[in-house]
Amino acid sequence: MKTLRSYVCGGWHEAGSGFATLVDPSTEEEIARASSAGIDFGAVLDYARERGGPALRAMTFAQRGQILKEMSRLLREHRDELLELSARNTGTTKPDGSFDIDGGSGTLAFYSAQAKRLGDVRFLVEGDGVQLAKTEAFWAQHVLVPRHGVAVHVNAFNFPVWGFAEKAACALLAGMPVVTKPATATAMVTERAVEIMVEAGILPDGALQLITGSTGDLLDRLGPQDILAFTGSADTARSLRTRDNLLAACTRVNVEADSLNAAVLGPDVTGGATLDFFLRDVFREITQKAGQKCTAVRRILVPAERADEVQEALSSRLAAVVTGNPADGAVTMGPLATAQQLEDAVRGVAELRRSARLVHGTGERADGAGAPEGKGFFFPPVLLRADDSRNAGVIHEREVFGPVATILPYDGGAAAAAEIVAQGGGMLVTSVYSDDAGWLGEFLARASSSQGRIYLGNQESAAEGFGSGAAIPQALHGGPGRAGGGEELGGLNGVKLYMQRLALQGSRALVDELAAGMEKTS
Ligand code: NAP
Repeated sequence: MKTLRSYVCGGWHEAGSGFATLVDPSTEEEIARASSAGIDFGAVLDYARERGGPALRAMTFAQRGQILKEMSRLLREHRDELLELSARNTGTTKPDGSFDIDGGSGTLAFYSAQAKRLGDVRFLVEGDGVQLAKTEAFWAQHVLVPRHGVAVHVNAFNFPVWGFAEKAACALLAGMPVVTKPATATAMVTERAVEIMVEAGILPDGALQLITGSTGDLLDRLGPQDILAFTGSADTARSLRTRDNLLAACTRVNVEADSLNAAVLGPDVTGGATLDFFLRDVFREITQKAGQKCTAVRRILVPAERADEVQEALSSRLAAVVTGNPADGAVTMGPLATAQQLEDAVRGVAELRRSARLVHGTGERADGAGAPEGKGFFFPPVLLRADDSRNAGVIHEREVFGPVATILPYDGGAAAAAEIVAQGGGMLVTSVYSDDAGWLGEFLARASSSQGRIYLGNQESAAEGFGSGAAIPQALHGGPGRAGGGEELGGLNGVKLYMQRLALQGSRALVDELAAGMEKTS
């Protein structure tokens, strides 16, 4: 069994105790163990602050972008190996693994291109300067500088490569050193990705460190210049963001958490390309990565008179899903990643059934194709329906992190749809399918403020839309309220998380001189 290592203080650390065991979720075979025992987390932070930070800040955006370009290239070069590891450690089919790994290399490539555009400067100048007094003798200009701390990244189990890469891309580009901590259960894939980068020697000393296993007292040591970026469950987020030292130092904390994302079918859509698009997207969002995506569709709003038809169409697509070991070529959906996720999904569907009825699937574990009988965390797709959409309580509160969604009939009005969607308490994304701009306008006016992203499906976008679940680097990823309140990606917005904005005030001549060479960001 492989022992996963951490990469800290310029070397690989192998623990001698306190191991958690990682298993292949299709066979339950033990494949690796991980522990961070023995790491001196104070030294990890010092190493990043004293070595990685200064080295990155001495580089220009263009130079930092070169590092991201190399990181992206290495992920592409080792894609097959990482896909194989992902199948073993996270149970992904090839397309699902590629969503993670190619998503990671694509995001790094995107930010390296942004860096090239920013050029040979080290700070960002934001917007136009403004005259403050009678003349230009007193002037102000906003600038952004890298924070002199450490970016600590705590990631969820479902995106071991993308999660690491999308956060690291933004922090490194901003000029902050990274300490990345993948979820232990799927750390094997991240460990290898980091190992590939370390072996290639593309990063300055201290710019990237990896913790496999627990964070020990790392988070207790964070201070005012550090950033904690967390992705995971709302419960863990609450316990992390309320730590005394983080509150006392006002450490910047960015949270990406649960989300009860909705897909809404507009009343005008009775067939054609938009309806096909809606069905295709919703089906993908239920089954991709076995529903273990923060952006997966959990609630499906359909005009009441069309609910039976949509239920039938989705059920027949879900019935064709082959759940099993991705090593079997016939399999189209892999297992859940861990025994704990399986247990939670079974319990979650039982809870949803308090407000909804099962219309497809059982909500129980099943044997998987190509896997030993009785082994594997297989959980075939589940479709539920709650006819009293407004009073469906738990459907608007409980995220079941698996291939599970609920049909919620509504009266076809934009106001009703917006009101029902908002019951989710803050979403990463809501997708809306309609060709009626008037109806969409009313929906947006009522529903937008509870969303991080609104994905509009119509006849035109049907041909090229990526699917509502794809978090792409050009567009904001994050959402208000229950979704964590965080903001990642979205072009340079994601980089600014790691920078300090300040207003530079003085005479225009001096301010302009100091800001000279800095890149305009808007
Ligand atoms: P989780 O149990 O909250 O764990 C997330 C991360 O936090 C893991 O790395 C975990 O490490 C770490 N962690 C847990 N307790 C900690 C503590 N006391 N101190 C420091 N680190 C701690 O979530 P998960 O089960 O991995 O992920 C599933 C959840 O993530 C779902 O609810 C999903 O919606 C959400 N998610 C959100 C997004 C988004 O972008 N909004 C993306 C993906 C997933 P260990 O593994 O070592 O415990």
